[in-house]
Amino acid sequence: MKAMVLHKPQPVENDPLKYEDVEMPEIGDDEVLLEIRCCGVCRTDLHIVEGELKPVKLPVIPGHQVVARVKEVGRKVDNVSIGDRVGVPWLYWACGKCKYCRRGLENLCEHALFTGYSVDGGYAEYMVAKKDFIHPLPRGIDDCHTAPLLCAGAVGYRSLRLTGLVDRGEGVLGLFGFGAAAHLMLQVAKALGLKVFVFTHSPWKIEYAYKLGTDWAGDTRAEPPEKLDAAIVFAPVSWVLIEALKKLDKGGRVVLGEIYMTPIERLDYSLLWYEREIKTTANVTRRDVREILEIAEKHGIKPNITVYPLDKANEALKDLKHGKIMGQAVLRIR
Ligand SMILES: [Zn+2]
Ligand SMILES: [Zn+2]
Repeated sequence: MKAMVLHKPQPVENDPLKYEDVEMPEIGDDEVLLEIRCCGVCRTDLHIVEGELKPVKLPVIPGHQVVARVKEVGRKVDNVSIGDRVGVPWLYWACGKCKYCRRGLENLCEHALFTGYSVDGGYAEYMVAKKDFIHPLPRGIDDCHTAPLLCAGAVGYRSLRLTGLVDRGEGVLGLFGFGAAAHLMLQVAKALGLKVFVFTHSPWKIEYAYKLGTDWAGDTRAEPPEKLDAAIVFAPVSWVLIEALKKLDKGGRVVLGEIYMTPIERLDYSLLWYEREIKTTANVTRRDVREILEIAEKHGIKPNITVYPLDKANEALKDLKHGKIMGQAVLRIR
């Protein structure tokens, strides 16, 4: 089968992913073989390809927003059949036994495996997945528009839940960095009744945020019309976190939705005073994936996508790195 393979992390300008023929993977008893339709291109893939995330498996096939059809099933697979349409997110497998799994925090599992990082992922024609960690997909959304929901959607939604505003059902939410996750969470937050302010450096993204229904949008350093009850920072740069804290109301919380961030050089205590909090989002649970798929179907949440063929994955990552993508890049495999 064909795949885009990473042998050695390096800047994406050097085209680190190689288009190669690799052996068809084989399945175990509790696994399925998936014929991949499309796979989203996430910023985490960029961090893996460029080496900001320490490699755990090399060579590796990246990609963790996989939309596929079940091609083969192992002997113990009883939950899906050949031909079913399923998705694979970042959480490839969790042990179900460690103290985190027992507390419903399988995203923090001590033994977790991650798709396209600790095991081969979706930048390929086929992949293997665990039967209990694949997700049935909503019928009303086509393959390529479903892919972004599996990470940008799921991690974005976990970040949104961690702000506390979903449970409260009201409040002012600031979104910092208007990429794949934020353009989905703007739509979700509006559907759930929140007021949303978008902060971004790009004038065209400000315009785009208004088109998607934001209550206000402006430059990252601009003063919003009201203080924020919570904020999500989707940009991997620490000065944006500082900007978010400056706009946060007393008792507010900033959630960091990124797996990587540049070092925080200076954090004035006055920015945290009055019970302000910073919380990170790590990975996703199956619940996050299930809920965002349900919300997307119910409220007609639609990602904006730019489609690339599989062998152009390096180009997609370059465009992502340089902020050229409105919404999310998706590789169409078949
Ligand atoms: Zn991702
Ligand atoms: Zn565990």
